[in-house]
Amino acid sequence: MGIWMHAKEAADRVREEVAAEAAALRAEGIVPKVAVLLVGGDPASAYYAESKRKIAARLGVEYELRALPRTATEEQAIAVVAAWSRDPAVHGIMVELPLPSHLSASKVSAAIDPLKDVDGVTPANKLAVVAGEPGLYPATPQSCIRLLHAYGHSPEGKHVALVGRGQTVGLPLFHMLQREQATVTVCHSRTADLRRHVAAADIVIAAVGRAGLLTKDMFRSGSVVVDAGINETPDGGIAGDVAPDAIETAAAVSPVPGGVGTLTTALLFANAMKAIRLQRQAAKGEKRE
Ligand code: NAP
Repeated sequence: MGIWMHAKEAADRVREEVAAEAAALRAEGIVPKVAVLLVGGDPASAYYAESKRKIAARLGVEYELRALPRTATEEQAIAVVAAWSRDPAVHGIMVELPLPSHLSASKVSAAIDPLKDVDGVTPANKLAVVAGEPGLYPATPQSCIRLLHAYGHSPEGKHVALVGRGQTVGLPLFHMLQREQATVTVCHSRTADLRRHVAAADIVIAAVGRAGLLTKDMFRSGSVVVDAGINETPDGGIAGDVAPDAIETAAAVSPVPGGVGTLTTALLFANAMKAIRLQRQAAKGEKRE
């Protein structure tokens, strides 16, 4: 029987650091502010946007949510983001995905000032992740790695099976794991024998979006399993990509909810604080972090 890698403690620590930094900034007369664009009112996106508002309030971060109707044009969405990019009172910008299908997420994201890009979705920050350059890295891959470290499972020298190569989680995580000195096998929908790769790994990270894809019989007794998947269940709850009974075979498993997602939300606000530091350094013409 393994242990659950709950994220609450690590997330609490991140939130404490953010709240302290936000208070220090306010004392200097800087009110940290993040702005979020929601187009089309997708219920799950609206829910995430509102839950971030509550967290922002607790951390002393101002929060603006701009909702555009489903019929909004790409030009309208880009105009909102571009105005925030120019506004010195806005320090962090997020665009809730998915956007309605007639809008290009990459075109709208490209209008975000890279120094305000707390989701790490602009071309400049995507490149920074690949090249290991300073920048704002996406929060979910950061969360997976932090959770491993929090439980003493450094990826260094380990064989990691990364299941999923999506733009949001798997792809950036692949690059970040390289720099953690892991040996990474990337699995995807065309992988011929997923079971073999999962069974061979010391660490398995799931970022797919299919509830229960990884079952308890796929893991060996020493496996450490991080589940980044978020899947809606018929009863309105959420489930990960890993079947919960995997805890019976693996050494450690991160729960859903209460794992990667919990830490991700905290790290988004840590990214907002980093964004402010980067903006201040840029204003002074200093080298970036
Ligand atoms: P995505 O872009 O849809 O990527 C999914 C990946 O899974 C793709 O690489 C796909 O392979 C692979 N895949 C699909 N079916 C598979 C199968 N049967 N076996 C192996 N691989 C398979 O998704 P994403 O945006 O990266 O998100 C991944 C998951 O993370 C989702 O559940 C999402 O909700 C969740 N997520 C969580 C957080 C958080 O804070 N916890 C944040 C963002 C996203 P191909 O490349 O071959 O298509």
